[in-house]
Amino acid sequence: MLKTFKIGGVHPEESKLSANSPIEPIPIPSKVIIPVGQSLGTPATVIVEKGAEVKVGQLIAKGEAFISANIHSTVSGKVNKIDEVTDQSGYRRKAIIIDVEGDVWEDSIDRTSTLVTDCILNPEEITKKINAMGIVGLGGATFPSHVKLMVPQGKKAELLIINGVECEPYLTSDHRLMLEKGEEILVGVQLLMKALKVEKAAIGIESNKPDAIAHLQKLIKEGSGIYVVPLKVKYPQGAEKQLIKAVTGREVPSMKLPIEVGCVVNNVGTAFAVYEAIQKNKPLIDRVVTVTGKSLKKPSNFMVRIGTPVEELIKYAGGLPEDTGKVISGGPMMGKALNSTDVPVVKGTSGILVIPASESKRVTVQNCIRCARCVSVCPMGLEPYLLERVVSTGNLDMAEQHRILDCMECGSCHFTCPSGRSLLDYLRLGKARVGHIVRTRVNN
Ligand code: SF4
Ligand code: SF4
Repeated sequence: MLKTFKIGGVHPEESKLSANSPIEPIPIPSKVIIPVGQSLGTPATVIVEKGAEVKVGQLIAKGEAFISANIHSTVSGKVNKIDEVTDQSGYRRKAIIIDVEGDVWEDSIDRTSTLVTDCILNPEEITKKINAMGIVGLGGATFPSHVKLMVPQGKKAELLIINGVECEPYLTSDHRLMLEKGEEILVGVQLLMKALKVEKAAIGIESNKPDAIAHLQKLIKEGSGIYVVPLKVKYPQGAEKQLIKAVTGREVPSMKLPIEVGCVVNNVGTAFAVYEAIQKNKPLIDRVVTVTGKSLKKPSNFMVRIGTPVEELIKYAGGLPEDTGKVISGGPMMGKALNSTDVPVVKGTSGILVIPASESKRVTVQNCIRCARCVSVCPMGLEPYLLERVVSTGNLDMAEQHRILDCMECGSCHFTCPSGRSLLDYLRLGKARVGHIVRTRVNN
């Protein structure tokens, strides 16, 4: 029997429309907008000035805090301005805007496709280089990768888990990467194992990707300590705690990190980025983005330079259909609707989903009928109907007591509610407010 996590979960329509579309590079745009805060933690500090000439891969903003990530130029050209721009979240944030001229790369970057397997760096040097290259978790969380590799004193990493689950409907970027860059991903996994000083790595892949499972199983060398764990299809299996439970049976306690149970989780996209950083000296300047939707002419997987406006991606997927009601960054479950398509792709952009107007209308909200469906699907064992009520009435103490901070915003409750209640909106709002209260309490 296939493994999976135990509590809750749903199975939305998969709609993997772009699963058979190979990764294609799209042309470099005439202008890129590169926000300096593209990871969890503190935004990087700009180190270039207006008018500066930059090359592809050049450091342009430095991550100086412990939880922060370096930012590199993703194009060559001239810095047009450093300004506040509206990002995908709708907030104004500092960004470096570069007018593109040619495509001149830093000489240190190996642009050949030769597979490089040997690495003489020691674990600390690997971690340091991952930090220098601005690598962050590409599964969506954008946690700086070097921080995950620095195991706190008193803890021990035993198992590296590679997340190839991609349980969000529509998204296929990880699936394609496993099929097309399997060898590079496996070298990246070995580098991460070396950095963590672990002997074993499990790659979790849902059984709806049998080609990726077979391909990686074929490439894995005997004695490497790497193995594939095929998983039952269930959302949100790509969430760290659910993936750890599915692969190992271990339970990460409330408000604790995976290292608590000896695990470190990284996405397949991150493993590929680590390969490129360590073996090719290539900073994180591009990524695979799925551009998809039932009304789009050409659902695709594009290799995109970070900073490219979303509207460019939609253009290469056949253009924005007239009947579009909503454009989402990410998948339909955890993604966020965009205010405008003039916002840039960032390190955490895994997909762009175009939804027709007929499917994007909000249903009329009905009274809660206490059916408890939201409770039974919550993978964190929360009571979403109760949390919605206490947040909407401003009772944040109660929201904290009922563990709102354990909510991972997976949207399973929202998806399943027969009354169309805006559960996820209230959960996000409540989490932000309670999170602020808790941080203020800790800092005082
Ligand atoms: S969004 Fe939060 S409350 Fe709702 S099912 Fe997911 S974890 Fe549970
Ligand atoms: S699923 Fe909706 S209607 Fe049912 S208990 Fe939860 S909030 Fe109420």
